[in-house]
Amino acid sequence: MLIRSAKFLTSNTRVDQCPVPDKPEYAFIGRSNVGKSSLINMLTGHKGLAKTSAQPGKTQLINHFLINDYWYLVDLPGYGYAKVSKDSRAAWERMIRFYLRERPNLTCVFVLIDSRHEPLAPDLAFIDMLGTMGVPFVLVFTKADKQSALRTQQNVAAYTAKLSETWDELPRQFITSASEKTGRDEVLSFIEEVNQQ
Ligand code: GDP
Repeated sequence: MLIRSAKFLTSNTRVDQCPVPDKPEYAFIGRSNVGKSSLINMLTGHKGLAKTSAQPGKTQLINHFLINDYWYLVDLPGYGYAKVSKDSRAAWERMIRFYLRERPNLTCVFVLIDSRHEPLAPDLAFIDMLGTMGVPFVLVFTKADKQSALRTQQNVAAYTAKLSETWDELPRQFITSASEKTGRDEVLSFIEEVNQQ
């Protein structure tokens, strides 16, 4: 898919103030610092579209972007930042659950996972939440340029093995690097395919 236009629309804490849900919506989420802003900027080809958050765990906003005047890309606030208070963690969970439940146009959630790590509890907990809520999702292993391709494959395999313990069917997986633009075509083609279904 060619990205012809990418526009910032709104930042919200309230789901009922998000743009009218009349277009397919793809949401991006992951642990703080997983490389979400970098990935969104790489996919859209707009360097400053998603702001790299200055302080993780600060204001938690749902950011909507309109791509090609046809689909919404959503930058969701990250999770798993150790220094966040119990209260803000609970507020994050309330907001995200509400978002996942109340966006009828939500087509797919991209769960970003740092390809350098073994399966981590906050990611597995979030994936479980998506599963229980019946939300379609795929996995994106980020920062693949940080280690050898073999090491990335081993980490992805460890993930797959972990997920196989609870899931019969495994989600689709993508391997990306924002700095080397790896995985861009695959992710954009996937979105295009789903949009055409
Ligand atoms: P966010 O908090 O999830 O939005 O993460 P950012 O996009 O702000 O990235 C966090 C840090 O990881 C920054 O220092 C980025 O430069 C770095 N980073 C993000 N993606 C990549 C990548 O694909 N490769 C490398 N080497 N660094 C990355």
